[in-house]
Amino acid sequence: MTFPSFEKIIDTLDAGKQFSFPGGVHPDDKKSLSNVSPIKTPSLPQLITLPLRQHVGSEGACCVNVGDYVYKGQVLSQATTPYSVPIHAPTSGEVVAIAPHVVAHPSGLTEMCVTIKPDGKDTWGVLTSMQDYTAHSKDSIIDAICQAGISGMGGAGFPTHIKASGSKPVEFLILNGIECEPYITSDDRLMREFAWQIRQGLDILDFLIAPKAIIIAVEDNKPEALKALDIACQDKEKYRRVSVETKYPAGGEKQLIQVLTNREVPRNGLPIDVGVLMFNVGTCYAIADAILNGKPLIERIVTVTGEAVDEPCNFKALLGTPVRHLLKEAKYNASKQDAPKVIMGGPMMGFTLADASIPVVKTTNCLLVPSASELTDGDNERACIRCSACADACPASLLPQQLFWHAKANEYDKAEDYNLFDCIECGACTYVCPSEIPLVHYYRQAKSEIRLQRDEKNKAEKAKQRFEARNARLEQEKRDREEKHRKAKEARLAAANGVNNTSTTASTDSGTKDKVAAALARAKAKKAALNATPDVSRSDTTGAANVPPDAKDSAIQGSSDTPANDKKAQVAAAIARAKAKKAASADANQTATTQPLPATSSSTDERRDDIEDEKKAKVAAAIARAKAKKAAAANDDTPQKPQPDASESSEVSEDKKARIAAAVAKAKAKKAAQHNTADENNAKDSSESQNTASDKDAQKQARIAAAVAKAKAKKQQRDVAAPQDSEELQRQAPDNTNPQDEKTARIAAAVAKAKAKKALQQKSDQS
Ligand code: SF4
Ligand code: SF4
Repeated sequence: MTFPSFEKIIDTLDAGKQFSFPGGVHPDDKKSLSNVSPIKTPSLPQLITLPLRQHVGSEGACCVNVGDYVYKGQVLSQATTPYSVPIHAPTSGEVVAIAPHVVAHPSGLTEMCVTIKPDGKDTWGVLTSMQDYTAHSKDSIIDAICQAGISGMGGAGFPTHIKASGSKPVEFLILNGIECEPYITSDDRLMREFAWQIRQGLDILDFLIAPKAIIIAVEDNKPEALKALDIACQDKEKYRRVSVETKYPAGGEKQLIQVLTNREVPRNGLPIDVGVLMFNVGTCYAIADAILNGKPLIERIVTVTGEAVDEPCNFKALLGTPVRHLLKEAKYNASKQDAPKVIMGGPMMGFTLADASIPVVKTTNCLLVPSASELTDGDNERACIRCSACADACPASLLPQQLFWHAKANEYDKAEDYNLFDCIECGACTYVCPSEIPLVHYYRQAKSEIRLQRDEKNKAEKAKQRFEARNARLEQEKRDREEKHRKAKEARLAAANGVNNTSTTASTDSGTKDKVAAALARAKAKKAALNATPDVSRSDTTGAANVPPDAKDSAIQGSSDTPANDKKAQVAAAIARAKAKKAASADANQTATTQPLPATSSSTDERRDDIEDEKKAKVAAAIARAKAKKAAAANDDTPQKPQPDASESSEVSEDKKARIAAAVAKAKAKKAAQHNTADENNAKDSSESQNTASDKDAQKQARIAAAVAKAKAKKQQRDVAAPQDSEELQRQAPDNTNPQDEKTARIAAAVAKAKAKKALQQKSDQS
């Protein structure tokens, strides 16, 4: 973008000429109502209510509590972001509330406020000034401006320290004393009465920003103010005083820049983009007060005017003063209004307050209290006649009637297409509209809706980003876990391979190798046992068709086995597995010490070992089952002691096996004795029924019975004490015979013999 050069602009201004902006209107300014009397100081209100946010940006963090005593100028909130500024106590007193309170906003919003009850003493806290500010760094001065809570007092409320600390070169620093809106005279009175302080503030800004030129702009309807500034700045050639033609809204930032420099601030741009910075006269005054006197921003000039107040004037009001207090000071006359109505701001850009308890804030420049006939209420809205008067008046070169149609129809996207946000809400279009359409009202409503939708969209977008970030984090954690497990598995496999590869030399690894070999052997034995055990059970229900060849005969023979015999078989199988494990362990040890092979070439030998181990286990299991069946056949009626589950008896010891055999032998001996007794009783019965039998025959029968019992007992004892009938089993379990069991069997046989003798004696006595 090309715009006039600095030299051309200076030449134009020095020639007494100016540029212009499009549109604009010339309403009756009504300034004489309030600009004739000096600034007044109102009395202290009973309560002072201070919103934590009185500027553009986020609110500060409250740093006082209810019940605290605060001094005048004491900090009440701290800035928390670069765009926030603190607020200060306008007078001394007690904090009586920190709560939401209705604030100056067209919709009557509530915001967090600190309420102070003044003690009437107006006691200042400690003030720190920077009288010789040129001896300080610019950063410290800018920080002091921030800590004083200064933000733009012309209406926008932009934090001043942000504007003053920019890094872009500045050609023109403009002091805005236009105050173009009708009725408002606060800046006018400030310039008239405090021109020197404004000059001091300008000096500080000149020191901070160092612009190429400073332009003091005052509307030509304020000759007194311009003269006062002329006098205050007469020694500064750099400070050009310019009387600007009165036209509303010449005080608008973009419009005034265009009037003075003929430079147009780009859409969505800032004045600094065309080498310009602009400050309000009230802001300049506040800067001087903060730097030179150490006073924070706690008060401002407020015009209270309109035909409904008997004494329109300008007050130097404490921030936080309720509107109704100033109305009372200005002698509000309710009889001149049909209904209470107070406008904060001027008639063009102001808005009607919802409550008279709303406090004065840093951007409050006027309270307009019109009479019933002074201003229209906007209730006479009629249809648009498309006269285009609004477009002609628009200083932003917009099409207000198009904006109106789309805003009214809630077609916000189309309204944005017509540059809704370039509207400065000056109200010039409303002022000229013959249909009395409150056009600005529609624009404000549309802007609020669009901002709301943007906020919702931003929230949704942030929520989506948080959700996606969480999913990504969980996925990453999952991948990390899987990678960790993979590495651990690889390490285990590498360790196992390392055992095989280094077994000949790594005596220190022999323990690990043995464990691995033993684990493999156990797994093989278990597999063999599982193959053997179900053969028996399946033979009970499905026959021998599925039985492996090496166990088929046993399975067929055992098709009538009882559950007790199954358990015995399982016990025997467990014993067999234990033996196989022992053998496998021995094989593994032998392999580890004598036949080290690389892991990649040992598969054939392992398979051979597997086959041999499996064969051994199957043979052992078949022998165990055969023995169990034999024992069951000899002891059909012998109660069987509950046997442990095969799956749990892999560690059954030889000692336990011997004890079981002894118990079985004892039971058999007992049975044999009972059998002898029964034989004797039968003999007695026979004797009683056959008195002709001879004593010789009876004695012979008794002796035979005793001999049979003894023989049975001995036979059973032999079977139990030495059950292994194969050389293989005897070799594997040479210590199965238990002396204690032999003794028990002998005792059982002796008892049986004694019983037989006794029975014979009784028979002899009877006969
Ligand atoms: S000035 Fe009013 S009536 Fe005329 S075009 Fe604009 S909105 Fe319509
Ligand atoms: S309020 Fe907006 S649309 Fe109307 S004249 Fe002003 S800038 Fe133009």
